Amino acid sequence: MIFFKDILQFPGKYRGRLNYQNPKSFHHVNVILAEVDQNPDYLSVGAITFTNPQRQYATKIHFFFEKNLTNITNFSRVQIICSCPSFKFEFVGSLLKTDSVIERVYFEYANLLHKKNAKQIPSGCKHIVALANHIKSRLNVKNFGLRQNIQLIYSFEYLYSQIAIQNYNPRDPYQINNRQKVLEKLRKQQYLKSKL
Ligand SMILES: [Zn+2]
Repeated sequence: MIFFKDILQFPGKYRGRLNYQNPKSFHHVNVILAEVDQNPDYLSVGAITFTNPQRQYATKIHFFFEKNLTNITNFSRVQIICSCPSFKFEFVGSLLKTDSVIERVYFEYANLLHKKNAKQIPSGCKHIVALANHIKSRLNVKNFGLRQNIQLIYSFEYLYSQIAIQNYNPRDPYQINNRQKVLEKLRKQQYLKSKL
């Protein structure tokens, strides 16, 4: 898993996105916190993010803490996810290799199609970087300043569900939940073929 510090900025190739003048910069991303959830294993922080209000995305960071530590530090381990195309096409490949993706099963097929960024250093999309900086600036605020709002939670869940719909490929055996069954079936087929 990557560290929190790794998603507070961009690695070399994408440095330009730190520059305020760049329209692709994370500075132009609006972040609306929608979910702060403490699970037994991790702290989950989700947000609706957008530059253009017409194109909103669900962005989520999970913080995993070392034993006896409950504070977010630069070296907290994180897993991330975003419903935007940039996450899927530019960043997910390197993130999968370091087990840094939430719901990785939905992205494994996308990763097979987009190997061009395989050597890239793991990084988040601009929405992840914007959310990470949002959290960093509110570490001392209760729930990072989240205001409970039912409509907001619904909107977030709807946007988040798009990840499963857009990225799931039922024909990809790697994405079928019960992989063991698929492998068993393939082995059986091969065995029967060898007997012909
Ligand atoms: Zn994104």
